[in-house]
Amino acid sequence: MAEQQGTRASSSLCDQLQITTEELQTRLAFLSFGEQDARNLVEIRDVIASYIDEIIGEFYDHLLQFEELRKILADPALVERLKESQRRYLFSLGQLGDPAEYAEARLRIGLTHERVGLKQKWYLGAYHKLFGLILQRLAFRYSGDESRLSSLVLTLNKIVTLDEIFVVETYYHATMQRLEDSLCQLKEAHRQLEGLSRRDSLTLVNNRRALMESLTTEFHRSRRYQHQFALLFLDVDHFKKINDRHGHAFGDHVLLHVAQSARGMIRPHDIIGRYGGEEFVIGLVECDKLGALQIAERIRLKIAQEQFTWEHHSTVVTVSIGVVMLSPEIDQVETLVTRADQAMYYAKHRGRNRVELYSKACASENQLR
Ligand code: GH3
Ligand code: MG
Ligand code: MG
Repeated sequence: MAEQQGTRASSSLCDQLQITTEELQTRLAFLSFGEQDARNLVEIRDVIASYIDEIIGEFYDHLLQFEELRKILADPALVERLKESQRRYLFSLGQLGDPAEYAEARLRIGLTHERVGLKQKWYLGAYHKLFGLILQRLAFRYSGDESRLSSLVLTLNKIVTLDEIFVVETYYHATMQRLEDSLCQLKEAHRQLEGLSRRDSLTLVNNRRALMESLTTEFHRSRRYQHQFALLFLDVDHFKKINDRHGHAFGDHVLLHVAQSARGMIRPHDIIGRYGGEEFVIGLVECDKLGALQIAERIRLKIAQEQFTWEHHSTVVTVSIGVVMLSPEIDQVETLVTRADQAMYYAKHRGRNRVELYSKACASENQLR
């Protein structure tokens, strides 16, 4: 994120907002800004220059009548700096020699105001006030020439409108960036939380990390006390086809259904977790071979016998299950998982929707995998 902000800071606001010279020309054309307006602006700036101190003075007198603005403008040194930059702003009003530079400077002023916490309503309202103050001076100087005056006022209106559009864009852009930053932070927090969490958010059983932790604990305990311990490796059959036929969201619900069906068939102190995409591992505590095979078969049958339905889609789901028993030569839980996986693969090879107990044959068949 720091990098992102760095990139932002280094590129111009015009670039970020995609305001090219061509785009500016389009904006001016849309405001019907023509040669007469360019000539009018020379006169407008001349009038502004003649009354600059009055205009700025009256402008700030007006602002300071409002409590919220008084708070922002409490520091006299800040007010002096702002007056100075407003002076520059007014002198450069409509100096469109380099349109991109003009836009960039206007956008920067907008951003500065946004950053000091000036709300958009005040900023846009202040433009109206400024417009009125300049208009008064124009009316005074051209009091005898109504058509000239209306032409000048029209130009002033166009150039102020151009700036007002910049303000709206800057504020919107700043808000969007803040939202983007918050979203990045939220995503990161979510990622970290998921890492800390032990539950797979889709299937509501243990995630892989928690599964392996619990299995490891149970594995060592079973070895130490010479308890029977069985491991089941369950894989949904042709799951890719289910996704392809009914959609990924349907597939997700199938996974939840499979996980919860299996969960419902084992005892509370047994372990179940999502090992990978459509693969689940189950640890059966103090369970002998016969018991393990019976439980695996019950899980297989329960899933295969139910027509799974979700949002107008329906299918039969089957699973293949490999079973392995803890034996003295196995000194790592990973070996147990590998063997159960090999037995599962053996079941796949023998037609799927089956349970297979690990044997040497499973291992040799897996060499062809
Ligand atoms: P087999 O019977 O041989 O196991 O075939 P299969 O299609 O089940 O196996 P394969 O490994 O070819 O495909 C598994 C598919 O599972 C591919 C992948 O897109 C999908 N998958 C993995 N994780 C998820 C998930 O969280 N949700 C959904 N909907 N699909 C997933
Ligand atoms: Mg698989
Ligand atoms: Mg599969």
